[in-house]
Amino acid sequence: MATTVQIGGVRCHIVSDGLNLSDGGGFFGVVPRVMWERVIAPNARHQIPADDRCLLIESDAGLVLVDTGNGDKLGEKQRQILGVGERRARLLTDMASVGFHPEDVDVVILTHFHGDHAGGATRWDTPDGSPGAVVPTFPRARYIGQRIDLAEASFPNERTAATYKADNWQPLLAAGRLEVVDGPQRIGSQVRTEIAPGHTAAIQVVWVQDRGESLLFLTDACSWAVHLDRLAWVPSFDIFPMTSIETKRTLRRHALERDALLVFQHDAQVVTGRLVSGPRGPEVQPILTKEAWSDPLPTVVGA
Ligand SMILES: [Zn+2]
Repeated sequence: MATTVQIGGVRCHIVSDGLNLSDGGGFFGVVPRVMWERVIAPNARHQIPADDRCLLIESDAGLVLVDTGNGDKLGEKQRQILGVGERRARLLTDMASVGFHPEDVDVVILTHFHGDHAGGATRWDTPDGSPGAVVPTFPRARYIGQRIDLAEASFPNERTAATYKADNWQPLLAAGRLEVVDGPQRIGSQVRTEIAPGHTAAIQVVWVQDRGESLLFLTDACSWAVHLDRLAWVPSFDIFPMTSIETKRTLRRHALERDALLVFQHDAQVVTGRLVSGPRGPEVQPILTKEAWSDPLPTVVGA
């Protein structure tokens, strides 16, 4: 279910590509299970639920979408692994619930090129959603991605190859729709990105700032709220874990200074929160929470 928040004069909609399954060790890395299972209890297969949120921003530079979810170009096996089942058009359905359609989007910011962020950037152009020609999902949008991350995605190694699928970005490049950029970006006067390395070399977080109010969309620089509370908790997905810790320290300082509304992309329980001073340092005070295993979308969405 989409949630709308107001940052100064800017309306932002937290939308979702739905709930996925993930191995608990993925998000919590070397943290012992006896510790992380107090945050989120896994199922019998050691899996935990993970949301796949995106952000729609009604900015002065037009409608900006941050990330695109897994999309629908998933094979049966991938659907099974992710626990996606038969749900299709998940993000698009949630966007429609707040009145927006693919052709309304002016800018798509890809925080990085992992499949759960860039998968929905393109779609199969067939009437029944079966495999076929791949086209941009958002037909009018210019897409923005970081050059260093695109290089990493285009030439993966054995460790990173599984998440990088060229048909998530190649058709955008071919259509001249992917703007490949270097470093922090400004989109109008209210939206900007900041490089937050660790999870990947050039992952970009997104700030929305207007009339003294701030929102920080943390993407996988800080996937769950507890990752911000405990700097040493770093996902095993992260390519540069030591850098992730320093990135989180910096983001924490900036978020505290600006009293930013934090949006967590994958936290199955804490959707938004704000930092407050705690006995061990800054900690996230949850604002919007949800039931861990509840899918924010209807169980079955028509193909
Ligand atoms: Zn992710």
